[in-house]
Amino acid sequence: MPEITLSHVNKVYANGTVALQDLNLAIAQGQFISLLGPSGCGKSTVLRLIAGLGKMTTGNVSWGNPNHRLAYVFQEAALMPWATVEENVRLPLKLAGLTKRATASAVTEAIERVDLRGFEKCYPRELSGGMKMRVSIARALVTKPELLLMDEPFGALDEMTRSKLNSDLLDLWQQMQWTVIFVTHNIYEAIYLSNRVVVMAARPGRVVADVAIDAPYPRTEAFRASAAFTNYYRRLSTTLSMGTDPELEPWQPADLPSVPMSEGAR
Ligand code: ADP
Repeated sequence: MPEITLSHVNKVYANGTVALQDLNLAIAQGQFISLLGPSGCGKSTVLRLIAGLGKMTTGNVSWGNPNHRLAYVFQEAALMPWATVEENVRLPLKLAGLTKRATASAVTEAIERVDLRGFEKCYPRELSGGMKMRVSIARALVTKPELLLMDEPFGALDEMTRSKLNSDLLDLWQQMQWTVIFVTHNIYEAIYLSNRVVVMAARPGRVVADVAIDAPYPRTEAFRASAAFTNYYRRLSTTLSMGTDPELEPWQPADLPSVPMSEGAR
C-alpha cells in the first residue's frame, strides 16, 4: 500500500492562480522522490498540501498510516539566531513538552548523525551555510519522522557543499529508511538522489513525466559520470523544455509538416 496517495488534487489560490491541476501521485514507503520543475509549477504547493498546511480546492490526500510522522526542511535553515546548535535541534521536542533531560540523548544522536559533533554550543552566526543546513536536518530527524519533506534545501549553497550534503543525505536516508519528497529545479541533483523523478510544468501546475532512476545505491561519483546518468539528464532536460516526456511521445521527423527544403528556405 502506498504511504501517500494524492488523487485528483486541484489547488486554486484565492487570486485565481491554478497552482495544481488534477495531480495524481502514489508514493511508496521508502521512496526517494524528487519533484523537478521550473519556479511556479506548484512543487511547494504539493509539499504544503501533504504536510496539511493549507487546503486543497478539490481532491484527496490519503495515508497508509494515519498516525504518520513527518518533518519539513526549507531552503532557509530558519534557525533561532539566539540559540545554540543544541537548542535549535531540541526545539521540536521542547515544543512537544519534553524536558531537557528526556531529550538529551536524542539531540546528541541527531547532531552526530549530521556530523556536527563538537559544534553543540555554537550559535548559527558561527556556522557556514552548509553547517546551518545540517542543523536544520538534525532538527528534522530528532523527531524520528517517517516522511521527510525537503523544499530546495540546498538551493542556496555552493556546488561543493551541495554535492557533499547530497551524498550525506543519501547515507542518512539509507540509515533511517525515510520516505523523502525532495523539491528541486536542479536536474543533476534530482537524478543523483532519487529513485523516482516527477517532472512538473507550470500554468497550470501539473505532472508531465514520472521517471524511474534505475541505478543502485550507494550512488557514487562514477554514477554521475556514467552514460546512464547522461541519458537521464537528456530525457529530463528535454521534458522540462518541451513540457512532455520524449520517451512517452517520441518525436519523429515524420511528424514535421512536409515543407520542401527549397520552399522553407525562400
Ligand atoms: P514552485 O514551488 O514550483 O515554485 P509554488 O507551489 O510555490 O511553485 O507556486 C505555484 C503557483 O502558485 C505560482 O504561480 C505561485 O505564484 C502561486 N502561489 C503560491 N502560493 C500562493 C499564494 N499563497 N497565493 C497566490 N498564489 C500563490
